[in-house]
Amino acid sequence: MNELRSKAKELLDSKAVDLFIGYEEGTRLPRPLIATSAEEADRLIFDERCTGNLAVYLTRKDLAAGGRKVGIVASYYAMRSISRLLDENQLREGAVKVFGLTQDGGLTLFEAIADVKQYLQETPAPSRQVEDEWAKEIAEMSAAERWKYWTGELSKCFKCYACRAACPMCYCTRCIVEVNRPQWLQPWAATMSNMEWQLNRVMHMAGRCSDCGACGAACPLGLPVHIIAHKMTEIVRQNFGEPTETGNVLSTFSPNDKENFIG
Ligand code: SF4
Ligand code: SF4
Repeated sequence: MNELRSKAKELLDSKAVDLFIGYEEGTRLPRPLIATSAEEADRLIFDERCTGNLAVYLTRKDLAAGGRKVGIVASYYAMRSISRLLDENQLREGAVKVFGLTQDGGLTLFEAIADVKQYLQETPAPSRQVEDEWAKEIAEMSAAERWKYWTGELSKCFKCYACRAACPMCYCTRCIVEVNRPQWLQPWAATMSNMEWQLNRVMHMAGRCSDCGACGAACPLGLPVHIIAHKMTEIVRQNFGEPTETGNVLSTFSPNDKENFIG
């Protein structure tokens, strides 16, 4: 903790970064902190309760626009998001310094996103046992049971879009759910349109989702929408491999792509 605070202060004092994104103690749980001075950086904390994906703030125009340099604390899965945001030209190399939580529980300063990428390549992802078991349980249901499960869960959704707001990869300035010419999705909450909303959200994540789980954690109703993203990530990986720097499954086409889902 002291190391994090002193390094963040050093970066802010030396103007190596203009702001530092981390966590501070909240009323019940840690909450995000955007520190712009060494004094504020003194409130930084980082422990096992800090499970959100702070990379979501890196594309916020009010924070990181205009060539501002940013320091950020990131879990393994947030580092994945940062790597993908660079691939999608949403971040500038050299503008982000990442304090990554490493396998041994320590914090390492990555001066460049290229170093983050290297680390991700060399390090196995932390276990996702709970999500794996949950997804398996759902996959083993019959189609009718699965339909009942998901319509039952998603009928509760009241379209607050917290799942979207928590996701670092949902950075469009105009989302399909707010477009009304044409009206792609019904704006009111109803089971079928809630299903459509989640299918659209997760489809847009194909090959881009870091499997961080922040969407599910953000849902005020505890709906397991991160399990849909988790399963989709597994299917994409099995069929198309890892996303590459030059594109992901949604933005690239190969004549060798399987078409076994047709017919
Ligand atoms: S869809 Fe959910 S799990 Fe995937 S990157 Fe977004 S917040 Fe994380
Ligand atoms: S956070 Fe939950 S309730 Fe809100 S839109 Fe997403 S799934 Fe629906």
